[in-house]
Amino acid sequence: MTQTIINWHQRAKDLKIDGRAFINGERVAAIGGQTFECFSPIDNRKLADVASCQVADIDCAVVAARAAFNDRRWAGLSPRERKETMIRFADLLMTNKEELALLETLDMGKPITASLNVDVSSAANSLRWFGETIDKVYDEIAPTADHTLAMITREPIGVVAAIVPWNYPILMACWKIAPALASGNSIVLKPSEKSPLTALRLGDLALQAGIPVGVLNVVPGYGLEAGTPLAMHMDVDCIAFTGSTGVGKKIQIMAGQSNLKRAWCELGGKSPNIVFADCKDLDKAAEASVGSIFYNQGESCNAPSRLLVERSIKDEFVKKLLTHLPSYQPADPLNPNTTMGAIVDCGQMENVLKYIASGKAQGAKLCAGGERVMSETGGFYVSPTVFDGVTNDMTIATEEIFGPVLSIITFDTEQEAIAIANETEYGLAAAIWTQDLSRAHLVSKALRAGTVHINSYDEDDITVPFGGFKQSGNGRDKSLHALEKYTELKTTWIRLT
Ligand code: NAD
Repeated sequence: MTQTIINWHQRAKDLKIDGRAFINGERVAAIGGQTFECFSPIDNRKLADVASCQVADIDCAVVAARAAFNDRRWAGLSPRERKETMIRFADLLMTNKEELALLETLDMGKPITASLNVDVSSAANSLRWFGETIDKVYDEIAPTADHTLAMITREPIGVVAAIVPWNYPILMACWKIAPALASGNSIVLKPSEKSPLTALRLGDLALQAGIPVGVLNVVPGYGLEAGTPLAMHMDVDCIAFTGSTGVGKKIQIMAGQSNLKRAWCELGGKSPNIVFADCKDLDKAAEASVGSIFYNQGESCNAPSRLLVERSIKDEFVKKLLTHLPSYQPADPLNPNTTMGAIVDCGQMENVLKYIASGKAQGAKLCAGGERVMSETGGFYVSPTVFDGVTNDMTIATEEIFGPVLSIITFDTEQEAIAIANETEYGLAAAIWTQDLSRAHLVSKALRAGTVHINSYDEDDITVPFGGFKQSGNGRDKSLHALEKYTELKTTWIRLT
């Protein structure tokens, strides 16, 4: 079978980008005409002027969402009708997947193959899965006395504000909007100012799929100018936030200071990846450890950035690990063979380089990488960086770097490994490599993390919840549990006699 070879550079040149907001079914400029410039981290070329939404724009979007919710143009459809519309929406993502993937790569810097085969496809899958789910979930009848009927039903919560980050822009947006739409809510989506482009196209495609006007609105803008008025808005019923722990804390405060809206926060991580000496396949563990920290340039909330290795196998394991680094060297993100792209912007690249400098200054041993590369492109690239001899109190082991930096920490006993793994403010994910079944279960139970992988890392499915313990947040994306965030429980108590 012959495969069409896509000339992504040519497509990028031909691309027409509309940076206007999407409010009440229309593309509109910000009311005050404000825009911000959107640049590509690939080569720092300007991509578009994007509407910079402010208080008045946020208000329009919330008013539109509220009107759509109140007249039940979406919530009032049967679950089957919502399902069919959402499946059309998912299909439209796949029909337009090359354009969406190109926008994602240009805007955020990730490799085009990942945008195409992971981000856009998984975003479509999320819409499809929640669409297909919604006419298969049932409500409850409580076991009350014979003369009563007590129904426990779930109702949409109302207007949902989805505020999302830049690292998986279309996917994080769809992890929020899919369960929120399926359960009948209206939505105001605020993408990150660093990667707003695919979210704007989601607005167009939702309308094309038949999602009624006003049900999904997209308001690009800065955190303080667009995010804060949305989080403070008295007519928003729920915030579904994904981002940093620092901003997550502010979101909780804003919810409390305004109308006590529900505030669900999916936040940062510093996930431990524990390799015991009894691991059956050290080669596989080494390959997976490298693949999962350097995937997406290390800009993943659940990246296993702390590698804990038992002392007796440490040197052998580090040697194996380093042999896999050539598979993750930064290269042109528009080349389909590239596995590692650009860091999202200059500021984030500088943060990563500062952390690398702090690792060196605090005495960790730099084994690989540690520098900016490909600067001649004008873009922002950092080589995959590995530090050995890290202790868990060093800054590179405590703070989320959100870049391609791996810290290797050595341990002697199982108890020590558990203590180091849990000694963090985060609790998003973890992994254990061992062939001892009892150890796998016992260590898994002892780890304070939302997901524990055993003999793998980052294998995933829409059917399982994703979210964190401790300061990695509350609530869960994905799976049937996500519906809990976007619905209120109602008891209807009927006296029969
Ligand atoms: P961020 O917290 O800086 O921004 C996230 C979103 O919040 C953006 O849209 C931003 O504009 C907005 N925002 C910023 N300040 C705001 C304010 N004061 N009021 C309202 N909104 C505001 O995070 P980021 O840098 O975009 O993303 C990286 C972070 O996201 C990392 O910490 C990463 O771990 C986390 N993340 C978590 C998950 C998860 O599922 N747990 C998934 C992806 C990313």
